[in-house]
Amino acid sequence: MTHHNSKRFFIGGNWKMNGTREAATLLANELVTAFEPLAMSVDAAIFPPFPYLQHIGGILRGSGLMLGAQQVSADANGAFTGQVSAEMLLDIGVEIVIIGHSECRQLLAESDELIGEKVAIAVSTGLSVMLCVGETWQERQAGHTEAVCRRQISAALKGIHLDHMGAIHIAYEPIWAIGTGRSASPQDAALSHASLRKDIEDLYDPSLAAATRILYGGSVNPANATSLFAQPEIQGALVGGASLKAADFASILRSASQATSSRPN
Ligand code: PEP
Repeated sequence: MTHHNSKRFFIGGNWKMNGTREAATLLANELVTAFEPLAMSVDAAIFPPFPYLQHIGGILRGSGLMLGAQQVSADANGAFTGQVSAEMLLDIGVEIVIIGHSECRQLLAESDELIGEKVAIAVSTGLSVMLCVGETWQERQAGHTEAVCRRQISAALKGIHLDHMGAIHIAYEPIWAIGTGRSASPQDAALSHASLRKDIEDLYDPSLAAATRILYGGSVNPANATSLFAQPEIQGALVGGASLKAADFASILRSASQATSSRPN
């Protein structure tokens, strides 16, 4: 099987429930231009809101920027009003889907088990997955960060065969750092990444764990990206707020490109 090159950074832009069709069009066009000189050195995806996916997909075509969705149903089809299936996403050109975002865990009460079902149907349908895990501030204060992440990743990957792991990226997103302007320190992020990598090693094997890209998410911006990317445990970022500004997201992409070229093979 082929594992992706974990040296290459992956940068995701999660637009959440923001923008209009006009703003999304403008942003996507600016990102296509900014990504052109970086496409050879960085992997990147943007995650627009559902109604704009197909339209933005047309703008991204041929750019190397991947089209991502923010959510997917755990079911294949049927009486699930308001839900969108993995097959539908694939059908309109989506390549990757965010699963387990803390906003969905909290606001939609998504359980570890449901998230596991979503990961399973996504990868078996042929989508890549951005699997989000992370602790609350209270859990961190209580010293439970590693245990919480282990519980989340174990449940999410339950039943996922080794052959599908090449399609799964992990985003370590401490909940207290999301949308707060308060990023985890590069050192704290690296510790959590190392612990998650050990969890993957225990669930699968060391070579798969080494090849799995673990991204950091939580208030990443142009000012802190370089120091986060200097940590060898960090292979990219999932970016919320700063992904809505083309110049900021482009700056983070450039930091990732520079960090990639300074890493040993
Ligand atoms: C996110 O939504 O995944 C995220 C990390 O948001 P922000 O960058 O705004 O903290």
